[in-house]
Amino acid sequence: MRLLIGKPLAEKMHERSRERSAALHARGIAPRLAAVSVGIDPAANAYQQRLAARGKKLDIAIDEIDLPSDTSERQLVVTLERLGTDPRVHGILLLTPLPGTLDEGHIVDHIVPAKDVEGMSPFNVGLLADGRPRFVPSTAEAVIELLKFHGIALRGARATVVGRSTVVGRPVAYLLLNEDATVTVAHSKTPDIGTITRDASVVVVGVGRAGFLKGDMLAPGATVIDAGINVAPHGIVGDVDVESVSAVAAALSPVPGGLGAVTTELLLRNVLTAAERQQKD
Ligand code: NAP
Repeated sequence: MRLLIGKPLAEKMHERSRERSAALHARGIAPRLAAVSVGIDPAANAYQQRLAARGKKLDIAIDEIDLPSDTSERQLVVTLERLGTDPRVHGILLLTPLPGTLDEGHIVDHIVPAKDVEGMSPFNVGLLADGRPRFVPSTAEAVIELLKFHGIALRGARATVVGRSTVVGRPVAYLLLNEDATVTVAHSKTPDIGTITRDASVVVVGVGRAGFLKGDMLAPGATVIDAGINVAPHGIVGDVDVESVSAVAAALSPVPGGLGAVTTELLLRNVLTAAERQQKD
């Protein structure tokens, strides 16, 4: 079985982003991302740490705006709107999940679409659903970029996505449709998911359950993309039962080592795109 490693693709993107960042700096524009979190300890959050490290290498300033866990919806909205009108800020990332009292669906309405580098605002969600993606959730985009980079054919392929969240399952399904795949989406209320995944040549799983996807749920020769991130006693694992899947699948994106690095590079690439577009507007 082939491993669909993310690092070579991430490095390629990183090189291109370095050129774009340098070109912006040469014009006196310092690309800047505001990463807003509520009740998260940034030092303990692996994603924030990786973003900060990779952003530094690209000369993208990252403002970590860490609000306390008792922040009200109004306070969070005011913060997002202030960043939306701050000309020094080119991209806004709202880290999720939010603490239970905050309604994410309502709050993302206040991320200005031009700075919505994680594709959370209804405007960007609508463009994606309309087949005209602009900013899309970076994990979902990483799924498609990784498949393409490793030469997995998508046109006419039967693809099954397990999970229907706004950050993983739904945007992956729309992006696969844009690539002319024939897409089925399964979720927690889908009976006998194995009959649907066995019908697919490409399976994307993002449910948040270690060992969820087993080899007997796949057709021989399938390609599997694992978007899961689960904390296990021995470290981070995905949603795939690697031992049984390895015996059946032709290709698998590992966790760690698959989507993660690509996701970070795509988010940072979107900050550069936002900065470039804001100069033209
Ligand atoms: P989520 O919002 O909890 O969504 C999980 C999805 O999986 C839901 O659509 C749920 O179905 C489905 N599901 C749960 N149990 C299932 C089961 N037994 N059978 C079939 N479907 C099931 O989680 P998420 O944010 O999408 O994250 C999913 C995984 O990807 C996690 O491991 C997470 O760490 C990882 N990830 C998350 C992000 C992020 O930005 N949040 C990014 C990258 C990776 P229902 O809709 O019916 O409840």
